[in-house]
Amino acid sequence: MTAQILSGKEVAQKFRKRVRLRVQKLVDRGLKPPHLTVVQVGDDPGSTVYVRNKVKTCKKLGLESTMHKLEESVSREELSTLIQKLNADADISGILVQLPLPAHLNATEIISEVDPARDVDCLHPANVGRLWLGDSFVTPCTPQGIIEILDHYGIGLKGKRAVIIGRSNIVGKPLAALMLARHATVTICHSRTVDLPAVAREADVLVAAAGKAELVTAEYVKDGAVVIDVGVNRKVDEDGEKKLVGDVDFTAVSEKASAITPVPGGVGPMTIAMLMVNTLGCYEYQHGLSEQGFGT
Ligand code: NAP
Repeated sequence: MTAQILSGKEVAQKFRKRVRLRVQKLVDRGLKPPHLTVVQVGDDPGSTVYVRNKVKTCKKLGLESTMHKLEESVSREELSTLIQKLNADADISGILVQLPLPAHLNATEIISEVDPARDVDCLHPANVGRLWLGDSFVTPCTPQGIIEILDHYGIGLKGKRAVIIGRSNIVGKPLAALMLARHATVTICHSRTVDLPAVAREADVLVAAAGKAELVTAEYVKDGAVVIDVGVNRKVDEDGEKKLVGDVDFTAVSEKASAITPVPGGVGPMTIAMLMVNTLGCYEYQHGLSEQGFGT
């Protein structure tokens, strides 16, 4: 079997177009465009690339964006002061604190200070609670991006066995909430899971979000399973060339799976597209145009 490629790049285009047209309509009505502000602490090269892409996409779709880059050594108080200032700025629709934060800053404490109505990645405890209660204000970007890819390609989750490798607050846990809401039976795995390949082989839909290059080999995959690769890892190949690889051994797994997301061009573009959707959604909520912070 050679797997169908699930192109997140293609699905993301559909959402980006929708956002661009909606923003254009708002501007045509004389309103200011939605405005995303990103706070980055330190100089992590991966984070810098992600932040740059977010700002670039805002520009392409007609959204305003600003960036606040703070020194790695910034104090909790200084960061809190900036967040309070952003919360008080009525022109800002969405506030994203780029993770990970340096070790001296507690991410949960910092994110709890962001106005939940502008929490565009659904990380504030109030929004995480609403997600698990089935009453979301916003949905988390990467997990929602995965759900949209599955929807686009007509892959249902009802009654399916879903196995997620990774239990982070940004991918694994919130994805489990979204998949449960779609009536999948969900297992979340992590570094202490015993016999991971055997658990993974139970999956009809297998999601790899461990951050370990090519962890998922053919041995992890049941014939005909759908495989979603969230991982982004930098690897040097045999020719000394740097390349991006996912958490899945793409070549070997493609022979067994029925469908697979590539890296790059899979989940990554969807994360940014969903961020744009949520920034617009939060804007519409703040302007009384919508009752929640997501959806276009
Ligand atoms: P994270 O916070 O480091 O979490 C990784 C999770 O994987 C943890 O729960 C960890 O288990 C588990 N894990 C690590 N090694 C494992 C192993 N050998 N076997 C089983 N479980 C293992 O990472 P994250 O932020 O969720 O990101 C995961 C990956 O997705 C990274 O490559 C990241 O760059 C990528 N990512 C991509 C996007 C995108 O848009 N494409 C968005 C977000 C993240 P423990 O909890 O036991 O430590």
